[in-house]
Amino acid sequence: MLGRLEALKEIESAGRDPVELERQGARVILRVDRRRAETPPAPEAAAEDGQLALFAPDGGGALPALAPALSPLADLPVPPLHRVRRLSFSALALFERCSYRYYAERAVGMRPTDERAVAPGTTGLAATEIGDAVHRLLELVNLQEPLPPDDLAAKVRGWYPRVSDEELERIAGFVRSYCESELARRVAALPDARAERPFAFEHDGVLLHGRLDVLQLAGDQAVVVDYKTNTLEEGTPEEIVDHDYRLQRLVYALACFRAGASEVEVVYHFLERADAAVSTVFRQDQLPELEAELSGAIARIDAGNFRPTPDEFICAGCPALDVVCAGPRLRSASYAEHALATVS
Ligand code: SF4
Repeated sequence: MLGRLEALKEIESAGRDPVELERQGARVILRVDRRRAETPPAPEAAAEDGQLALFAPDGGGALPALAPALSPLADLPVPPLHRVRRLSFSALALFERCSYRYYAERAVGMRPTDERAVAPGTTGLAATEIGDAVHRLLELVNLQEPLPPDDLAAKVRGWYPRVSDEELERIAGFVRSYCESELARRVAALPDARAERPFAFEHDGVLLHGRLDVLQLAGDQAVVVDYKTNTLEEGTPEEIVDHDYRLQRLVYALACFRAGASEVEVVYHFLERADAAVSTVFRQDQLPELEAELSGAIARIDAGNFRPTPDEFICAGCPALDVVCAGPRLRSASYAEHALATVS
């Protein structure tokens, strides 16, 4: 060991004192026992005390008790609660709707509960399953000739065998709503419109990724369509987009700007109604503003300030509900005050 530490010279010069070695930032204190011949205690002393002196005041020839003080250790920085490195647009949307649920699912890893379980007596498909079936069917629709798939019912029954007739009709209604819409006629006239286009880009060290339901990118003009199966009981389409999908919308716009567009139109189509489309156009000169807003959101996630913002839609299926969060009951003022103090 001493050879590997190349310490022989230092030890030679150390005598009986401890010697501190530093190698590549690590410090080692060595004390050397040179096996000197000890002076045996006088036989009279042993006879007089009846016991050998184990701890003589001068050390009795033992090694020095005190080692040199090491320099104090620097305080370690507190690790961040959650450091985000990848963000899907659905994670961003979840963070916007309830940052506490985002933390429960995306940082802690709690799995969403079955939404049906929180609505006693409800059977059939969860809202997320209905949304999934609609998106899968719309992926099969020819954007240039938008018609519902002939085998729509068979397809949905294949994916979700327990689907009820009522749910099947609801799913078909969503698909018809797109196919019969003004928006579908517009998209049909876009020569390069494609369904389910993946995207990924990096911003502030975070990889943002996802899929666009429909993308038309021709020259420097881009059109993005996103289908939503939200109930419009939550608010007007404009209110829902403003409240829940601002960040998602700007991520779509940034993805298109990074792909070379200088103008991006993002259209949210709420399929409950054929005419419920919310369109926003972004231009290149808004890029700094959009990037700053995304940086702000990433900084908020990194800051670890996760707070519950309950409503009956977002709380349905939340894994934190009644486990670590009171959900809609937080709305009562005194409860909310107490709970917010607890979770922050
Ligand atoms: S129960 Fe509701 S308020 Fe609480 S974390 Fe879940 S979604 Fe947010």
